[in-house]
Amino acid sequence: MAAHAVLSASSAERWLACPPSARLNASLPDEDSSYAHEGTLAHELAERALVSGRHAHEIEGDYPIEMREFVQVYLDHVRAIPGTLKVERRLSFEKWVPEGFGTSDAVILDEGRLTIVDLKYGKGVRVDAPNNAQLMLYALAAYDAYDSIWGPIDRVRMVVVQPRLDHIDEWGMPAHELVEWAEQVVKPIASLAWEGKGMFQSGEHCQFCKARHTCRARADEALATVGDMKRGPELTNEELAAIFPRLSEIVRWANDLTDYMTGRAIAGTQYPGLKLVEGRSVRKFADEGKVAERLAAAGFRPEQYQTVKLIGITEAEKLVGKKAFSSLLGDLVVKPEGKPVLVPADDKRPALNSLDAAASELLAA
Ligand code: SF4
Repeated sequence: MAAHAVLSASSAERWLACPPSARLNASLPDEDSSYAHEGTLAHELAERALVSGRHAHEIEGDYPIEMREFVQVYLDHVRAIPGTLKVERRLSFEKWVPEGFGTSDAVILDEGRLTIVDLKYGKGVRVDAPNNAQLMLYALAAYDAYDSIWGPIDRVRMVVVQPRLDHIDEWGMPAHELVEWAEQVVKPIASLAWEGKGMFQSGEHCQFCKARHTCRARADEALATVGDMKRGPELTNEELAAIFPRLSEIVRWANDLTDYMTGRAIAGTQYPGLKLVEGRSVRKFADEGKVAERLAAAGFRPEQYQTVKLIGITEAEKLVGKKAFSSLLGDLVVKPEGKPVLVPADDKRPALNSLDAAASELLAA
């Protein structure tokens, strides 16, 4: 079996929304990232600790202290759930998805209830549990594997532990609804995706697609946003409101394209009408020690040219460890009100009224 399934659980959010992206991604080379390496290391630590019944700090190996603390949050959460624990099980959902399999971090079975716990070590994108296709496929596969042995299983629960964002989220559903979703939604789309058919559909899921830089559907969607509008010298409020929810994806697309094309140009690709130039650069001292020596020799006092700057909160957490940080410095941490942000109406955060927003803007200024 291939290391990456064409229709993997981890990419399900993408191929369920854009079925032909599955074959397209399978034809493109893997992208190496230090984040992926870090995630693999954290999962390895979590697995070793769970299997051996030990604390993350007791596992031998070159794991950073900060990683041990974050992984321990996940271990504590998993261990607090009663039931029989299965760790890092490779589970198949081939009944619904051709060659569909995935590795579930933790499956817990307890009196008719199945719980999937997924460790997300990344902190770039917050992952929520409700309607999370990856977790639903893991739960489906675990249900299929264990229902006849440990069942009947009548309820499934999916938990995301994302310790670096201090985020734990869970969501549950009756097992029969999960199977209905697999039959009615997953199976027909997976069949299209397996055959490389279906419609290209861009959206937030594009950020995890290897074709995101050159995909025509994504470019068309981004560029059509303003083109769709009726004519007139100025955009109306209705038109602005229609553009707004699509802006973050357009910005993401523009940034992806800039990074990709710059990288290719540096590697030798010639784009018609474009050239590489030296970007803006900022002056800096080549040797700060020598600068200090010369300023001292010239008669300046150290307090005139030296500043002592305190490390930031994240660095302090790394320095003393997350737990010790809360007892040592926790009471000295304040979280000012955030600056008002305009978001679509279905965003989970409560709405600010305009006066509150004006006040927060003043506070944040
Ligand atoms: S970039 Fe988006 S639209 Fe294009 S193939 Fe990938 S997921 Fe589909």
